[in-house]
Amino acid sequence: MKNIVLFGPPGAGKGTQADLLKEKYNLVHISTGDVFRYNIKNKTELGLLAKTFIDAGDLVPDEVTINMLKEEVNKHADANGIIFDGFPRTQSQAEALDVFLTEKGEQINGMIALEVAEDLLVERLLERGKVSGRSDDTDESKIRNRFNEYNTKTAVLKDYYNAQGNYYGINGVGSIDEITIRLAQVFDKI
Ligand code: AMP
Repeated sequence: MKNIVLFGPPGAGKGTQADLLKEKYNLVHISTGDVFRYNIKNKTELGLLAKTFIDAGDLVPDEVTINMLKEEVNKHADANGIIFDGFPRTQSQAEALDVFLTEKGEQINGMIALEVAEDLLVERLLERGKVSGRSDDTDESKIRNRFNEYNTKTAVLKDYYNAQGNYYGINGVGSIDEITIRLAQVFDKI
């Protein structure tokens, strides 16, 4: 399996690019945000629990998120590879993912990060909110809080994967096609 973490701040284009890479390389795409939204829509116990955090733009607690992620991965034992989108978002999640994959004889082959300046992203997210209907995309203070969560808890993961020699940053500004090409160049070599 070739497994990657698609990384970047909120609004960087991870979801869009994951869909394209998934098709190109026949991978499984796991977006923890999508799984939470599915559970919220279907009013499951997990959804009810996650909703308050997501609505506020806070991270959902690690234990809940890690357990959910493991279940998702276990559904795809024979995948060619997995694109992790929106996970890990904390150092504990990254450590738990490494332990979990090692137990399966698997690993993360690389973290590929879409690097985009924050100023551009707030505008982008507010635009997306007009069509996505996502509660966390419509209010600027919630968006700012998501960046705060990203900067204080998630951004450190660059160092975590760098220390493993597994961090690949790419310029996340450009057309969708240009960015897919940049991602594919990294994917092909890792
Ligand atoms: P996303 O669709 O990736 O932007 O995620 C939307 C929201 O879901 C985030 O703002 C968090 O509240 C929650 N969420 C998604 N993934 C995680 C994660 N790995 N850890 C904690 N919370 C998460």
